[in-house]
Amino acid sequence: MGRITTDNCELLSKDFIDPAYLREMQLCKLQSIVRHAYENVGLFRSRMDKLKLKPCDVRELKDLAKLPFMKKTDLRDTYPFGLFAVPKSEIVRLHASSGTTGKPIVVAYTKDDINVWNEVMYRGLAGAGLSKNDIIQVSYGYGLFTGGLGAHYGAEMLGATVVPASGGNTRRQVMRIRDFGVTAMMCTPSYFLHLIEEADRQGIDLRELPIKAGVFGAEPWTAGMRERIEQGAGIEAFDIYGLSEIIGPGVAMECRKHNGMHIYEDHFYPEIIDPDTGEVLPDGETGELVLTTLSKYAMPMIRYRTRDLTRIISEPCECGRTIRRIDRISSRSDDMFIIRGVNVFPSQIESALLAIEGTTPNYRIILYTENGMDNIQVDAELRPDMISSDAEKMEKIRKKISSSIESITGLRVKLKLVDPNTIARSEGKAKRVFDERTAK
Ligand code: ADP
Ligand code: ZN
Repeated sequence: MGRITTDNCELLSKDFIDPAYLREMQLCKLQSIVRHAYENVGLFRSRMDKLKLKPCDVRELKDLAKLPFMKKTDLRDTYPFGLFAVPKSEIVRLHASSGTTGKPIVVAYTKDDINVWNEVMYRGLAGAGLSKNDIIQVSYGYGLFTGGLGAHYGAEMLGATVVPASGGNTRRQVMRIRDFGVTAMMCTPSYFLHLIEEADRQGIDLRELPIKAGVFGAEPWTAGMRERIEQGAGIEAFDIYGLSEIIGPGVAMECRKHNGMHIYEDHFYPEIIDPDTGEVLPDGETGELVLTTLSKYAMPMIRYRTRDLTRIISEPCECGRTIRRIDRISSRSDDMFIIRGVNVFPSQIESALLAIEGTTPNYRIILYTENGMDNIQVDAELRPDMISSDAEKMEKIRKKISSSIESITGLRVKLKLVDPNTIARSEGKAKRVFDERTAK
């Protein structure tokens, strides 16, 4: 831990807040953010008016459930500045997310919003045991994407030495990890895997270097992937979650118990809903995460539907933090595809693949149509030492992986074992699914 000043001590103690006091504080903050959004965001006001609701109808936290949802399309439809709730002169930063389809979305921050973002990143990094004594290389993309700058300022607030590497130039990234004695990395899990491979190619064993931790997020990753990362680099991996619409990375992050991510619920109020009915589900049940920004004034989000599937873990964490946790985000509901009536998430395929010895997390999923039927092909790379000219041996591995996938997804897939290094490596968020179906 770095020098504890009265200020940062107070910030860190927020993770251990008395739950009854936290609920009171959340209600106060909720009431004022709802009023702020009502008075300044036309779209929100008109939806509230339609439901005959006024900000004063939020008397208890559970009244939140009466309020209308916001969705990604709201950001697209009001592009670029339609949801801003403060005069432009108060906005100190813009970020944008490309999204997967259509128009980009733009998000805005006041100076105070930026401070909240730095604070949550700081709390997360401190919770991972990092301090001013660390050298943190940030290899999330810098620029309009929230990953780079979000991680950067949080690490700086910690007092760590920050290496603003951004993504790309993978050879140099590895060189710097070694030459600078980097102790922690922040990037997407898929990019870190790429770095492990590159280190290997350069004859560098990351396990022998000072690097001891990695803070990975911005895309879904499985327990199997974590194992490969931790073993491959000899580090402790931390899951971090966030999204541009809410603030960027730092909405929730794992502590050293690695049993779900603590959500900074004094700033982001979580609900889990049934994605079909919109009904609020009790803690512990899996559904779609809905977030309300309690402290963000430039662009308040009230009941924002994230499309991310998880559950709230309200049992106390062994680390002593009282703020609740969310479980690993297994998938975005948008990532799900339906093949012959079966719902499949890419993460299921990843888990099934990595359950087999000798596989690697380098894979792609191709959806295609054959004779009018939807099919899945999975291309997977094996560890180079697993490749053999013995056709029978290779067929045995192929069958093993296929049946692992079949038993997890219930689907028989076409599995192709491809040569090492033939699947494109990602420098940011990995693209794994290629939908080539004629009718989607
Ligand atoms: P985009 O929507 O363009 O991808 P963002 O960078 O804001 O823009 O991405 C946020 C999304 O990334 C989240 O809604 C979630 O689906 C995914 N994500 C972020 N962190 C994680 C994580 N730790 N685990 C799983 N998914 C994550
Ligand atoms: Zn904990």
